[in-house]
Amino acid sequence: MAKGKASSRSKIEMKNPIVEMDGDEMTRVMWQMIKDKLLLPYLDLKTEYYDLGLKRRDETDDQITIDAANATMKHKVAVKCATITPDAGRVKEYSLKKQWKSPNGTIRTMLDGTVFRCPILTPRIKPAVSGWKKPIVIGRHAYGDVYRNVEMSIPGPGKVELVYTPADGDQERRMVVHEFKGPGVSMGMYNLVDSITSFARACFTYALDHKINMIFSCKDTISKIYHAQFRLIFRDLFDREYKAKFEAAGITYTYTLIDDAVARIMKSEGGILWALRNYDGDVMSDMVASSFGSLAMMTSDLISPYGYFEYEAAHGTVQRHYYQHLKGEKTSTNCMALLYAWTGALCKRGELDGTPELGKFAELLEKAAIGTIEGGVMTKDLIPFADPKPEKFVYTEEFLDAIKKNLDKLL
Ligand code: NAP
Ligand code: MG
Repeated sequence: MAKGKASSRSKIEMKNPIVEMDGDEMTRVMWQMIKDKLLLPYLDLKTEYYDLGLKRRDETDDQITIDAANATMKHKVAVKCATITPDAGRVKEYSLKKQWKSPNGTIRTMLDGTVFRCPILTPRIKPAVSGWKKPIVIGRHAYGDVYRNVEMSIPGPGKVELVYTPADGDQERRMVVHEFKGPGVSMGMYNLVDSITSFARACFTYALDHKINMIFSCKDTISKIYHAQFRLIFRDLFDREYKAKFEAAGITYTYTLIDDAVARIMKSEGGILWALRNYDGDVMSDMVASSFGSLAMMTSDLISPYGYFEYEAAHGTVQRHYYQHLKGEKTSTNCMALLYAWTGALCKRGELDGTPELGKFAELLEKAAIGTIEGGVMTKDLIPFADPKPEKFVYTEEFLDAIKKNLDKLL
């Protein structure tokens, strides 16, 4: 590729499209900027475009979300902008027909995927845990357990039981949960072998894809049936399908009790995939994310056991900044995670299509972005974590322009 301005060099060709899901508010604004400044001048960008902006979801009775998920199954690779999950306030704000479900939930269910949250690291931005040098990726099982529970407030003395009534008319099974002598609370929850197996498969796939060691942890010393079932499913699938592949890749799989895992993670230097049950993943992902700094430095990859990949930023639509933007004020919104969603998708597209120049471009784009921060040009959210701190922060568009300048130097 010749050096010089973007216009004078030939654009990188793409064989197959990426499914592009546009979104809402400030991330929609940055989405367009990323395309205009950092992608379209360099790539013959092929996408199949789905507008998941709230207005369009409402107009199509959310069919557009389903279409986008189906397209992901067809083309295998998707990139998604952040989208509003409407609450009552949004229903009013956008005069919606109804409170549409979270698009992420719909897509995740259709692809049967697992979400992996991965921090973007750069030496100048220091994690709160000083030993963490490499990403700690959290794989959270996003089905069942306490998120699909039934629970009951117990007003006074009485018996709570767990009852299983087999559909084939076999003998029912009954266990006493507790004989209450006074008021209390009780809860029932469940999970499915199929769902746990899909989760395990997605985690092993991710670890292999990224060549990183993997830990799965739960509390099977206390929950000898429920939690133990998770451990056994992971172990069984690993031994049958992944052991040889892990050995060939030079990576390891370890099961360890969650208490032990927490201690290990705190003392590790990172570079690990930590697979967790639903509740543990919910809590630990926020702990890990906040240690690594800004929400804008965290990506979210949805990996399906069937080989579909969807990339997005972990943060939302940055509503507060958008309202500022609407008033004509400048914002200092960080586009890193959105940009990494694009580079993740481009890399995967290149890998699946056998077009390494696409992966190479994505790599250079990431390098240009990291180089920008290392050079002291950063958005406001990063300043508290920067060492050394730059004298001033830059605005949204200035940051993108600085990345572009760096990219032009690298190409
Ligand atoms: P948010 O977009 O995650 O932002 C919360 C706060 O975090 C911002 O106000 C900002 O802090 C900071 N922040 C997040 N991303 C940033 C970035 N790129 N650059 C700089 N600062 C950043 O959450 P929200 O504003 O509370 O939610 C807005 C909408 O997002 C909601 O409607 C929700 O449904 C949706 N949402 C979507 C997804 C998704 O599609 N994956 C995920 C979560 C939420 P300061 O205000 O202090 O600057
Ligand atoms: Mg959480």
